[in-house]
Amino acid sequence: MTPVQYSAASQQVVTAFEAQSEAQQSSTYWSEDAVDPVRAEIKSHYIEDQNYTCVYCKRQIATANKALWDAEHVICRDKVPRFMFTPQNLAVSCRDCNIAKGQTEVRATMRRKFPNESKHYRIVHPHFDNYSDHIRWLGDICVPLTDKGVETQATCGLTRFTAKLLGIDGVLVNPGFDRYVGDLLKAKNRAEAKAAIAAISTYVEDIPQK
Ligand SMILES: [Zn+2]
Repeated sequence: MTPVQYSAASQQVVTAFEAQSEAQQSSTYWSEDAVDPVRAEIKSHYIEDQNYTCVYCKRQIATANKALWDAEHVICRDKVPRFMFTPQNLAVSCRDCNIAKGQTEVRATMRRKFPNESKHYRIVHPHFDNYSDHIRWLGDICVPLTDKGVETQATCGLTRFTAKLLGIDGVLVNPGFDRYVGDLLKAKNRAEAKAAIAAISTYVEDIPQK
């Protein structure tokens, strides 16, 4: 992903905020009128750069209409206002992923400086990680391949697509189905594949149907 580069006018707004002391920096600055053009610039850049695709669920929303996209702060701006305009803390996401993620702490390490490496995060980072190393999608089934994949699935509610597929309201409490599908994908021999298929069958049989 290419980090956003601010126009001269936007950079002034950003610099004004970043020149404030940490105690003065408020997350509500984001919603001020003066920040309107900056927010628009951020969204336009990432919508295009991400090819109209949410960074977490990888669903495509074929519109540049900014009202249908959320500006995503990987480290939540309510938690840490000082990273509000850090280009590598920014992306766009779909509304459902953004709402599911909420104010969840995504840092693996707490440091004062902006965490700028993959290992500093518990979830798949849009700028520092290669998504396909951590999560694979089989249609609507999210298959986590790593611990980061598992964390991202839980943080962004990525089982919601499987839940819908299986006729369950909301997010799966136990994303077993996805995990077993992952086991099936990673099966090294027929015995492992059979065990995964059996687990999937049992799991599906146990789901209460409406
Ligand atoms: Zn999404």
